[in-house]
Amino acid sequence: MANCLFCKIASGEIPSKQVYSDDRFYVFEDINPQAPTHVLVIPRRHIATLNDLTPEDGPLMGDLILLASRIAKERGLGERGYRLNVNCMEGAGQTVFHLHAHLLGGRAFSWPPG
Ligand code: AMP
Ligand code: ZN
Repeated sequence: MANCLFCKIASGEIPSKQVYSDDRFYVFEDINPQAPTHVLVIPRRHIATLNDLTPEDGPLMGDLILLASRIAKERGLGERGYRLNVNCMEGAGQTVFHLHAHLLGGRAFSWPPG
């Protein structure tokens, strides 16, 4: 999508600190980290929000979660725990309208979230 920040990051048009890349996903460091580990896992295909998923996206989203959990374990977060968070729409804090999962770890997290 022409004017999407994360499409431009996934294509390399806008620089980012790459964590992982393949034909379907791009993973990079959040520019404003909220925890020692704060990476964003995005599908390369532009999907604006969780609301825009269709049943055909099930395997994609399943693989996105598997990828995030693999990265978390590679970073040694498996035992202590980590958070995988998707904000959907402004009311939940979404500011970039290209679906992304925040992988956060390396500190304690409270519940309920703010
Ligand atoms: P959200 O508020 O859930 O839409 O998350 C958007 C996230 O994107 C925030 O955590 C921002 O810090 C992050 N972000 C915004 N611009 C960039 C960028 N150029 N590179 C990396 N992360 C970014
Ligand atoms: Zn996009």
